[in-house]
Amino acid sequence: MENKAVKMCPHCYVPMEEKVANYPMGSALLSVDRFHVDIYCCPQCKLVKLFAAEAEDNLVKCPVCGTMHPKNEKCAICALNTAFDGRHNN
Ligand SMILES: [Zn+2]
Ligand SMILES: [Zn+2]
Repeated sequence: MENKAVKMCPHCYVPMEEKVANYPMGSALLSVDRFHVDIYCCPQCKLVKLFAAEAEDNLVKCPVCGTMHPKNEKCAICALNTAFDGRHNN
């Protein structure tokens, strides 16, 4: 499938399973330059480890608000702002 390096459990020496890819850390209030992680879990001892997301290269900086977001997704901040701006013009 994907050409990702296999993460090995340091205790069991078995490949860890990727549970969540590219998970944005931090709160929505601090959404600028959020750190993305891949979450891996060992199928044997259930150890959970976080790795810096390998999809980091796919992030682009929104020219409007400066938020980093995935290339293939719309800027969530601008989508929110557009929704709020629709109520008043100034
Ligand atoms: Zn393990
Ligand atoms: Zn934006």
